[in-house]
Amino acid sequence: MVCPYCNKQETNVVDSRKNNEGNSIRRRRECPKCNLRFTTYEKAEIGLFVQKRSGELQEFNYEKLFKGIENAFGGLDLNEKQLKTLVDNIYNEIKEKGAKIKSEVIGETVLSHLKETNKVAYLRFASVYKEFSDASDFEKEVAEL
Ligand SMILES: [Zn+2]
Repeated sequence: MVCPYCNKQETNVVDSRKNNEGNSIRRRRECPKCNLRFTTYEKAEIGLFVQKRSGELQEFNYEKLFKGIENAFGGLDLNEKQLKTLVDNIYNEIKEKGAKIKSEVIGETVLSHLKETNKVAYLRFASVYKEFSDASDFEKEVAEL
């Protein structure tokens, strides 16, 4: 690990301890050149997987989520920054639900956010995502708004 103060390539680990859950390691490091100390954290990076209705697992695709939401807002008043914030909020909520998540749960999460943000985008997304079994389901959704 490079020293963040003087950029020396090699630094020494002076202390290393796991957190209580054992899922992250905190290391105290010392630079032999400038003698300053700093801390690093080591944590496993978990991929996010989507479980399709068929049971098939697919790696989560942020781009796909972004496109889906962007399409729902097509022609509506929402700038790039607002869109990014909205998608990130949804993504963060999805991530908190675990490493393996059902596609329906993603759909429901998106819908709950869109419902608060824009009713037209909500209905557009709902009509694409929910695969309404018949027209009365869609009418029920509209009536609930
Ligand atoms: Zn240094």
